[in-house]
Amino acid sequence: MSTAATDPLFRDDAYTRSCTANVVSVNDLGGIVLDRTVFYPTGGGQPGDTGVLRTADGRAVEIATTVKGRDEDGGPDVIVHVPAEGQPALSVGDEVSAEIDWERRHKLMRVHTCLHLLSAVIEFPVTGGQVNDGKGRLDFAIPENNLVKEELTAQLNALIAGNHPVAQNWITDAELADQPDLVKTMSVKPPSGTGKVRLIRIEGQDLQPCGGTHVANTSEIGPVTVTKIESKGKQNRRVAITLNEI
Ligand SMILES: [Zn+2]
Repeated sequence: MSTAATDPLFRDDAYTRSCTANVVSVNDLGGIVLDRTVFYPTGGGQPGDTGVLRTADGRAVEIATTVKGRDEDGGPDVIVHVPAEGQPALSVGDEVSAEIDWERRHKLMRVHTCLHLLSAVIEFPVTGGQVNDGKGRLDFAIPENNLVKEELTAQLNALIAGNHPVAQNWITDAELADQPDLVKTMSVKPPSGTGKVRLIRIEGQDLQPCGGTHVANTSEIGPVTVTKIESKGKQNRRVAITLNEI
């Protein structure tokens, strides 16, 4: 039987820390699908959320990670909550309170938004990236390695302190196809297939399609440091950043 797509509440509001939801399926490996969720699934270089699903009768299922899934009939995309070892079982129809580990997620949001700014500071194509808990990196296709850590750090912190609002809006796949320059990250395709794509706009600084979670204003990122610039291959430069206040 085909399940409905999970309603991804984090997409419209990344600040929602919890929601009530119903269990719609539990797969062979114990992965739990809810009808709606605040848990972001691994994707676009950002790791899946951790947290807990609680029932009214006192069961608490610790979630180790969250991934995208698809039911066996090739139905719509669902979000799968992967329990840690040895958690109590949930059944289809159970109502749960789904709560993310907000401290971790907020750090991921800060790092993720900082990487948007990094892609605005370094005006070369992005070939990959990874968001982590407190740090992150982007790879750029740059022929010459003439980046200077101290300069990038200063530029990033100026943008962060600039108090730039971060907003989102939706365009159609066709509108995106007409503006290929918007896609900076060649290795991570923007989330599409549903006919529409979400654009993330950092006022006056950056505009690109992205399905991740972001803070609402650059100042919320806090001070950062560019910790490393590595050459990864002839044209590939990897730039790593870390949050100064974790
Ligand atoms: Zn993003």
